[in-house]
Amino acid sequence: MEDCIFCKIVAGTIPSYKVAENQLAFAFLDIHPANPGHTLIIPKRHAENVFETTPEEWRAIADLTRELSIAVEKAMNADGLNIKMNNRVHGGQDVMHAHVHVVPRFKGDGVVKPLVQKPAYHEGGAEATLEKIKAAL
Ligand code: 5GP
Ligand code: ZN
Repeated sequence: MEDCIFCKIVAGTIPSYKVAENQLAFAFLDIHPANPGHTLIIPKRHAENVFETTPEEWRAIADLTRELSIAVEKAMNADGLNIKMNNRVHGGQDVMHAHVHVVPRFKGDGVVKPLVQKPAYHEGGAEATLEKIKAAL
């Protein structure tokens, strides 16, 4: 994709701090880290979000994400770690090339918990939700 900043990073036409790659996925440091070591894992091919990745691409992203989670936590001597992905505008996505965030966490780092969760399901809510998801599988 011509105008995609992450496609340009994969192609090397704009610079990045490359961390690692495999056949279908590429990883580099986020330019505005939540904490040092914050890494983004992306498909090499332009896919806008998780819905556009192929199963093979997603497996490659997942493999690299796991590998880098282990390395980043160890390298940064972190106390914890978040794996996060925003999809579509209303899912909080700013850059429209799929990416998984790996964020090392430190005690008292002040980085907010990614999701603010709500009270438990009302009566019958969990069952109805489960049915909808299972029907979509
Ligand atoms: P999103 O909000 O879409 O999940 O995250 C986009 C991420 O991309 C942000 O964390 C932002 O700091 C990072 N980012 C945006 N532009 C660039 C860039 O040019 N280079 C790098 N390395 N990271 C970028
Ligand atoms: Zn792209």
